[in-house]
Amino acid sequence: MRNSARVVVVGGGVVGCSVLYHLAKLGWTDIVLVERDELTSGSTWHAAGGIHTINGDPNVAKLQQYTIDLYKEIEALSGQPTGLHLTGGVMLAATEARFDWMKSIVAKGRYLGIEARIITPERAHELMPLLDPTCFVGAIETVVDGHLDPSGTTQAYAKAARKLGAAIERFTKVEELIQNADRSWRVITDKGEIRADHIVNAGGLWAREVGHMVGREHPVLAMEHMYLITEDMPEVAAINEATGKEVIHAIDFDGELYLRQERGGMLMGTYEKACKAWAEHETPWDFGHELLTPDIDRIAPSLEVGFKHFPAFQRAGIKKVINGPFTFAPDGNPLVGPVPGLPGYWCACGVMAGFSQGGGVGLALANWMIHGDPGFDVWAMDVARFGSWASKAYTNAKVRENYARRFSIRFPNEELPAGRPLKTSPIYDRLKARGAQFGAAAGLEVPLWYAPAGTRDEFSWRRSNDFEAVAGEVRAVRERVGLIETTGFAKYTVRGSGVTAWLDRLLASRIPAAGRMTLAPMLKHDGRVIGDFTLANLGAEGFFLVGSGIAEDYHMRWFQEHLPKDGSVQILAHGMGCSGLAIAGPEARRVLSAATTADVSARAFKFMDVRRIGVGMSSALVARVSYTGDLGYEIWCDPANQVHLFDTLMNAGAEFGIQLFGARALNSLRLEKAYGSWAREYRPIYSPVDAGLDRFVAFGKEADFIGKEAALRDKQSGGRLRLRCFIVDTDDADVIGDEPIWQQETVCGWVTSGGYAHASGVSVALGYVPKEMADREHGWSIELLGRRCTARLQHQALFDPDGRRLHD
Ligand SMILES: Cc1cc2nc3c(=O)[nH]c(=O)nc-3n(C[C@H](O)[C@H](O)[C@H](O)COP(=O)(O)OP(=O)(O)OC[C@H]3O[C@@H](n4cnc5c(N)ncnc54)[C@H](O)[C@@H]3O)c2cc1C
Repeated sequence: MRNSARVVVVGGGVVGCSVLYHLAKLGWTDIVLVERDELTSGSTWHAAGGIHTINGDPNVAKLQQYTIDLYKEIEALSGQPTGLHLTGGVMLAATEARFDWMKSIVAKGRYLGIEARIITPERAHELMPLLDPTCFVGAIETVVDGHLDPSGTTQAYAKAARKLGAAIERFTKVEELIQNADRSWRVITDKGEIRADHIVNAGGLWAREVGHMVGREHPVLAMEHMYLITEDMPEVAAINEATGKEVIHAIDFDGELYLRQERGGMLMGTYEKACKAWAEHETPWDFGHELLTPDIDRIAPSLEVGFKHFPAFQRAGIKKVINGPFTFAPDGNPLVGPVPGLPGYWCACGVMAGFSQGGGVGLALANWMIHGDPGFDVWAMDVARFGSWASKAYTNAKVRENYARRFSIRFPNEELPAGRPLKTSPIYDRLKARGAQFGAAAGLEVPLWYAPAGTRDEFSWRRSNDFEAVAGEVRAVRERVGLIETTGFAKYTVRGSGVTAWLDRLLASRIPAAGRMTLAPMLKHDGRVIGDFTLANLGAEGFFLVGSGIAEDYHMRWFQEHLPKDGSVQILAHGMGCSGLAIAGPEARRVLSAATTADVSARAFKFMDVRRIGVGMSSALVARVSYTGDLGYEIWCDPANQVHLFDTLMNAGAEFGIQLFGARALNSLRLEKAYGSWAREYRPIYSPVDAGLDRFVAFGKEADFIGKEAALRDKQSGGRLRLRCFIVDTDDADVIGDEPIWQQETVCGWVTSGGYAHASGVSVALGYVPKEMADREHGWSIELLGRRCTARLQHQALFDPDGRRLHD
């Protein structure tokens, strides 16, 4: 065994082998994969081998498409068949709500280039004669759907990687991972030691245990999963004979089943509600090529539906039932990328659909390691989306929920209950008592809206029972004053002797003077946007940055990677250590004024001013800025003071008609100002010009900030896209994101977010379109729940286009 390598990949399942292949393909061949047993000795060998491109998240859908397209390539290079059968498939809806969801999925597919179409149950029956069309209301026909041989596919990756120069050590167990002072790693195996620059945890069923070797608790849990295989069925033989083809794939969402042909019979798998975790606390190291004992009773309710929806199964004998474990992250997406705070340690685990996603995971990881960037939008699977708050018990609760809901509908306004409440702010009980309906963001309970007594969210694709209440909250802000909790934002303090120079290099904006703030985009080396912050200069106290709460760990990873080695800059992410409230609306100044003795008059405390003042009895950092686009203040304080501050502001606001508002009202308010938001309008695939953030980029500043050259090139060439605001002609539903934007008869763009702008009384969509057509006045429409709604380009903010309310 070699004693050094640039990269050691731990684990020879389909994911580890894909990572190895992609690293070698991109030119890193001094790499070795270490597998404790034979390749495929985790979940991989007993997978059902199903593959499909459709996924609720468009970026995951793209990655699945890449993976499936790759199989021909690795077959050709390795000479090893993958057993790929692209049969096509149908996805079936038994309810109208599911059918609505399907329409949105097909619509998304249009801009992703995924071939899928809505069909009737009768057409679905023609394509897949085993189903009973009377059980369904509609279906999707998919083209890129099928199955493959899990073992052959893994071997094909492995052989292709070997051909390119990679090494594989089988029957070698990694027992310890130790980081050296120079950041390199000692990989201690039962056959000796390897020194490596990078480690990839592709440990699959043992990813958690490999994580423990570096002192981390990765949020993954294995679940038992069963599928059955029938004896040969005459109905299958008849279809094969009549069509000359295999029976196509089927996913029956309401039955929570998937089906495909397996030799002369059928394979039927299910994600049962009464699900069961496996090896909850410790995965046994002696588990290998064995299966778990099937428990038919657990899957009986799904099978009953299956036998009704697919009547031929009632006459079929069951040949065998497979029960095997595989891992999930709390949201069901993979955990990929560099782990924050552990340079050179990478994750490629929690991949629950290794045969649909493994290729994309391997490509992203190899790009990231070699080029410093995954090369496409991987937010949905970035390991940094879960911080240390995603504990083992949280993961266990969330993974169970996710498994049981694998084929369930999640409505756009639906908040899932498992693992909550995990993090609450000091005023949680006060907000709850006033009717707050909460959602969870990065584990924190965030008020979404305030419901009248006895009301709670009714889940729907259309406008729901929160509509009037949110309208009232928006009205309060635009006409009087509203208060919102902002603890969920990410807050950082940056200080040290080198802080100004460092921020000047890291952020694309100018550095504000002491006591002032600025909007500060942060760019990657390729000039694309990796963050958007408000940067406040607190003078001797250092700098205070406010950004997206869900991206706190994601941004901290970037900050830490770029900190000077000499210790001249220190950065602290406050997390729950700093609480926030914000007031906004025309009366906001009078409310603040009533709560403080400081001079907060328009002249003394201007837009984008920031200072520490007393509010009530508490010291608070007050910033005159508001994401509502109205006169407003963000107020940051020690958590110990938040209750006091809340009571003080609510008391001071009483005479001005202060009202609480939540994240849904905030969304409505920011939409009518066309303000973008992180992970929606602002993502690392857009340039400042695309996103309309170029006016905040200080191209002329002296400092050579990261991404300057590329962003300048992009500005000069005009970029590729434009973020545009549209008014959508719709009456009972609003866009939420990912709907296709049409120009005449062509899908040319996609919606990033939207909703109803209550104060303006219109439905709004923000989205990207190609720059060449971005200023066309006419011909726009947006597809919403299967219907093309006329859309009008909105050139200026719907509310206060001159920004007088903000500035005066
Ligand atoms: C019943 C069932 C049906 C499924 N059906 C499908 C399907 O239809 N389609 C689909 O896409 N997916 C399916 N899956 C999921 C699929 O199997 C997984 O997504 C995939 O196998 C994950 O691969 P992996 O490489 O991440 O993990 P694993 O296959 O678990 O591989 C991890 C490897 O790492 C090795 N390892 C771990 N720790 C160490 C160490 N310390 N030292 C050395 N080696 C180590 C292990 O021995 C193992 O070989 C199914 C799973 C099950 C159980």
